[in-house]
Amino acid sequence: MFIRLYHFSYGSSSDIIAVITGKRRAPKEAAARIHTVERRAGRRPVRAAASEEMKRGGSGKENRKVKVLIIGGVAAGTKVAAKLKREDFGADVTILTMGKDISYAGCGLPYYVGDVIRDRKQLIVNTPASFEKLTGVRVVTETEAVKVNRQEKTVEAVSTVTGERSVYGYDKLVIATGASPIKPPLEGMDLEGVFFMRTPKDAITLRERIEAGDVKRAVVVGGGFIGLEVAENLLARGIKVSVIDMAPHVLPGFDPEMAEYVEEHLADKGIMTFTGTRLEGFLGEGRLEKVQTSRRAMKADLAVLSIGIRPNTGFLADSGIELMPNKTVKVDAYFRTSDEDIYAVGDCATVTNRETGQPAWSPMGSSANIEGRLLAKTLAGGGQPYPGVLQTAVCRLPGLNAGRTGLSQEQAKAAGYDPVSVVTVVDDKAHYYPGAGNFIVKMTADRATGKFLGIQVLGPGAVDKMVDIAVTALTLKASLADLENMDLAYAPPFSTAIHPFVHTVNILLNKMSGAFETMTPEEFAAGAAGEYQIVDAAVQPSLKNVPYLDLTKIDGPVDGFARDAKLLLVCTKGKRAYMVQNRLKYFGYTNTKVLEGGATFNRVEDDE
Ligand SMILES: Cc1cc2nc3c(=O)[nH]c(=O)nc-3n(C[C@H](O)[C@H](O)[C@H](O)COP(=O)(O)OP(=O)(O)OC[C@H]3O[C@@H](n4cnc5c(N)ncnc54)[C@H](O)[C@@H]3O)c2cc1C
Repeated sequence: MFIRLYHFSYGSSSDIIAVITGKRRAPKEAAARIHTVERRAGRRPVRAAASEEMKRGGSGKENRKVKVLIIGGVAAGTKVAAKLKREDFGADVTILTMGKDISYAGCGLPYYVGDVIRDRKQLIVNTPASFEKLTGVRVVTETEAVKVNRQEKTVEAVSTVTGERSVYGYDKLVIATGASPIKPPLEGMDLEGVFFMRTPKDAITLRERIEAGDVKRAVVVGGGFIGLEVAENLLARGIKVSVIDMAPHVLPGFDPEMAEYVEEHLADKGIMTFTGTRLEGFLGEGRLEKVQTSRRAMKADLAVLSIGIRPNTGFLADSGIELMPNKTVKVDAYFRTSDEDIYAVGDCATVTNRETGQPAWSPMGSSANIEGRLLAKTLAGGGQPYPGVLQTAVCRLPGLNAGRTGLSQEQAKAAGYDPVSVVTVVDDKAHYYPGAGNFIVKMTADRATGKFLGIQVLGPGAVDKMVDIAVTALTLKASLADLENMDLAYAPPFSTAIHPFVHTVNILLNKMSGAFETMTPEEFAAGAAGEYQIVDAAVQPSLKNVPYLDLTKIDGPVDGFARDAKLLLVCTKGKRAYMVQNRLKYFGYTNTKVLEGGATFNRVEDDE
């Protein structure tokens, strides 16, 4: 048994990695050996030097370099590494990662399947070699970290190619190991035709399968953002797609009525969603033929499982590093774990929700990058605390985009707010401009303070624009009053004269003041319209078998309607009905309500 020593050319220090070959040496023994070698080489023990340096708040530029070892080399890991080297090129930074690739575009994978991204090379943002050249970071691929020895400050790793074991020393350790798809122990998981969607290899093999032909039907298991993106791209390839999900609705994080709208829209476009439906297994002889669900067996040539992810933290089990109940790493606002020299970022860590201050797991590429950048600054000596996530997300579906940020109405209630929400249908650009469409918006605020709490937006256009304004508002802790008169950009191809975001703020303020009295889509669906007479208040009569009220003709009490009659005013979007309500109030009507979102958002039966 012997230890080979490697001296790498980056930086000026000699960086020692011990590779243990032959009989496996006990980790502690091996680690001790590394430190012995370092001492003989005439250096101070790294730990002592590092902690003195960190205590001084030094950047590592002056004396010996602090060794930063990063486990995981995709979004968070490469971001920490690259930014740290920009902050301090002298820093000694090594990435250990399990895969062959680093820095790949995980978020682009569904679009490769759909042939929107044509060339697989476009998925690889950087190869290990180009990343090393660009940044000066050392990258060790196809190497799995299997154990962290905190006392020795070493990480044991195994080559995924040769099985060779090695030990890496660190002063500061960053865990950026991400997460892996949940693979339930069900019958038929190994059948040809059962796919996942996490790595470039997953997308490449799925696309190859599609291009080999003969794929007519697919079942996507999981109606979260990734599952729906995969469904969209399978549909684009001419495949008949069904989505099943155990939850009552697709799109977690959206309130039920918003998710229901999406489900109906998907059905119109040819993607059937079966919610409340559990996956029970895969059936077939060597090759997938059916997906067994709690509802029935569904014919399928392929299935893509996207039922959630689990953090890759199994190798930390004996490390003493504190984990959350969901096995993500618990970190403070500086991403420090329960060990002050070990940090965690990205999908493997739980951070906080900026609005509620509660622990939040936000496995998103956006969060991974922001966290990685911030941690690099901390490691370089100039960090700031991370304010946390807002659970912002956006996703493209066939003919409809969906975005959200902040708290949904349900989440706001759970967080102890007294939330008030409104659903609006507003123009996304000047209505006369070619290509104009609607945004369907659900905006939520705190009733008592008017604090803006969150938004959910659906529409064919730039829903991200609406979401991003909301993110800014949340970040600056704005109230609706702060947002009322924002001077946002307008020209007909882009927006409306009063921006659709501000328009919705105004509608919510009107609702809160009592000027706009409404029935919510949730109340309507629950049967609240029962005691009301539905009145068509649209620009043109649009509902059958209900009386029509033309705004332009209301100039006094309306024949046939008592002033205390309970009237539910329905138009296409909600705006015209509001104007009718306003006019009726003037003439003494006291019991009118407007159906939020009108006939666009609600299923208003013609004969009701
Ligand atoms: C199909 C898809 C679409 C997505 N779309 C979006 C989107 O549109 N927007 C968005 O914000 N987010 C999106 N995401 C999420 C985003 O990709 C992840 O949040 C992000 O990649 C997390 O980065 P990470 O560095 O924490 O983890 P990962 O990207 O998972 O990287 C971790 C790396 O660590 C390696 N590793 C794990 N364990 C070990 C170990 N023991 N030793 C060594 N290496 C290890 C893994 O092999 C992996 O390469 C999408 C994800 C997928 C799969």
